Amino acid sequence: MINKSSYGNLYWVRISPFLVNILSHYDKANIFYKGWCVIMGRYAVGLDIGGTRIKMGIIELESGKVMAAEVFPTERHFEVVFYESIRKSLCHMLSKLSMDAVKLVGIGISIGSYVYSDGTLNGLIGIVDFMPYGYPLKKKLEEALNLNAKIDNDARLIGQAEALYGAGRGFSRVLTLTFGTGIGVGLCIDGQLTDKEATIHLAGHIRVRDEHDCKWLDEPPCYCGLTGCFESTCSGSALEKQIHHMLGKDISNQKMFQLAEQESQTAVNCVRWYIEMLCRGLNQYVYIYCPDVIVLGGGVSNSFAPWLVDIQENIIAKVNERQKTAIRLSELKEHSGILGSAALFM
Ligand SMILES: [Zn+2]
Repeated sequence: MINKSSYGNLYWVRISPFLVNILSHYDKANIFYKGWCVIMGRYAVGLDIGGTRIKMGIIELESGKVMAAEVFPTERHFEVVFYESIRKSLCHMLSKLSMDAVKLVGIGISIGSYVYSDGTLNGLIGIVDFMPYGYPLKKKLEEALNLNAKIDNDARLIGQAEALYGAGRGFSRVLTLTFGTGIGVGLCIDGQLTDKEATIHLAGHIRVRDEHDCKWLDEPPCYCGLTGCFESTCSGSALEKQIHHMLGKDISNQKMFQLAEQESQTAVNCVRWYIEMLCRGLNQYVYIYCPDVIVLGGGVSNSFAPWLVDIQENIIAKVNERQKTAIRLSELKEHSGILGSAALFM
């Protein structure tokens, strides 16, 4: 390769006559002219299956550009209707883009389940009725859509999206935390996910409180078996319980952060308590994973911006003198699931 430039989704690459000869036999997507080669953009489908909504998009893999995206309700009871809703949405997006399905390299699937390396699930109790332990979701989608499929856990894939396309770009070790109803964790090293069958997405269950500290947060106890775990302290649902206790009323997390910005003292105290607990967790992650950056995402993190300096100042853990962990907020928001799942084909 002598030279490279790009325009939109086309990449012009100067290659040797020898390579032109070889590639022209194998890659029909490329166009060759006097030693110059045009590499067409590679596209994959990203499918993010949630408990209430399915998000789906067609992604240009090099740039992370979302070419088309749709959101529709998750069919929770009827298997045939579930696959038909996905197939229809894909056909609709391809039609809008005037794109042929043969241009797609495959479909990446993101789901809130432990996923085995053969593409089967360990069960989705509470999400859909028809995916018991061992359900072959990857195989079923390949058959339904006639596309290659790859699958992984949703928290891990959000981490991959942030590392490749979002706030983690330019860093080597990217740890992403997603604060929603629970806390999801994903680690990406040099753009690659760690071992598929690792349980890092469950790393939100490290301990940050003792059993007598804010014990209303452990009622009911977390399914992980620990009292005082990070998820039962800093997730969105845990913060709602703490707001009820400290402010004596039921308001949303977002509203509480707004009150703190308006200098309501009880709300400021609640945010300060939250940041202390948050940083107890983050400081442990620095020692466990040695991240260059920790990306904070999910609904609760939408209110973190005014407090980012306070959070950064409380990251006092470091594994050696030169190591420093940056704290960033998610840049991808709603699209992180479809970007991360499509990126399984990078
Ligand atoms: Zn737990």
